[in-house]
Amino acid sequence: MKTRPAICNRKKRYATREAAEDAADAAPFKLRAYACELCRKFHLTSRTKGMKTPRRELERKRNADQAGQNG
Ligand SMILES: [Zn+2]
Repeated sequence: MKTRPAICNRKKRYATREAAEDAADAAPFKLRAYACELCRKFHLTSRTKGMKTPRRELERKRNADQAGQNG
C-alpha cells in the first residue's frame, strides 16, 4: 500500500504488526494493520478493500457465523 508522507506523519506508529493488530482489536470499529513503506513501521487503516484478511479475523468471523451473528 502506498502511503503519503502526510498520512504517515499523522498516524500512530506501531513497532510490530502484533502491536498494531492488538490496537485494531481494541478499536470500536474495523481497522487493519499494514506495513508502511515510509517509516518501516505499522499503521492502522479503516480501508480494508483489497487487503488480505488476517487469520485471526477469519477465525473471529467464523465464530460469529457459528453464533448466528452474521453482519
Ligand atoms: Zn509510516
